[in-house]
Amino acid sequence: MPFLTEPEPERGAVLPVMPGISRIVAANPGPMTYYGTNTYLIDTPDGLVVLDPGPEDHPEHVEAILRATGPNVALILVSHTHHDHVGAVPALQKATGAPTVGFRLSGLDSFEADIKLADGDAVAGMTAIHTPGHAADHLCFGLPASDGTAVLFSADHVMSWSTSVVSPPGGNMMDYFGSLRLLLERTDDVFLPGHGPPLPEPRTLVREFLTHRMARERAIETALAGGASGTYALMDALYSQVHPRLRRAAERNVLAHLLKLEAEGKAMRDGEQWRAA
Ligand SMILES: [Zn+2]
Repeated sequence: MPFLTEPEPERGAVLPVMPGISRIVAANPGPMTYYGTNTYLIDTPDGLVVLDPGPEDHPEHVEAILRATGPNVALILVSHTHHDHVGAVPALQKATGAPTVGFRLSGLDSFEADIKLADGDAVAGMTAIHTPGHAADHLCFGLPASDGTAVLFSADHVMSWSTSVVSPPGGNMMDYFGSLRLLLERTDDVFLPGHGPPLPEPRTLVREFLTHRMARERAIETALAGGASGTYALMDALYSQVHPRLRRAAERNVLAHLLKLEAEGKAMRDGEQWRAA
């Protein structure tokens, strides 16, 4: 897969991305988060918008955001309610009083957006695009940038450095396929993901992701045709090269594929085992 890498970003620094857009990378590196969560600062006709304040328990990150924005934050946007994106919302909202904006149905009991968006809604010169799959409440935001570039804040739906984990029940493989195909119909010039560097020519990688997932799905079907199997054993057979720290995430992806196959009438569950239907 043609993934992108970047040098470790300077911590606490405001890194210019494009005219009117910069990011601060939170210090929560890991096998699922790369160097950390990208918090974007976006100049909009409605004022300065912060997209994804980052994880909880990183006060230095909230301080870095506030150093860059001052108290005048117009909106706090949330791409989805995983903790590495939404955890710092209470601290940032307390400091700025800015309203929060997110999908109308939150995936997290402890978070409810002040301004609730549906697919296609406009917010601060951007368009919200409901892209479930990685998370049921996942939104991407389309922005025509000041220099004419069509930008899509793709959050964790499509990232430049890695595939996304699709972990049921919040993650749904059928939705993920649909949300990838949705992006192929668009004409965005660049994706700005929730982790990792900007992704130019984004549809090339989106197509690769679809091909990769379809191949995985066929491999699972082939394995099930050879006999019943559990999710861990399937993962072990299919992801032989996966890093040990990613084995649990890989198993969640396999489960998501199995639930998709079950919904399509191609696989069935038998206790802890799965078999072809
Ligand atoms: Zn994330």
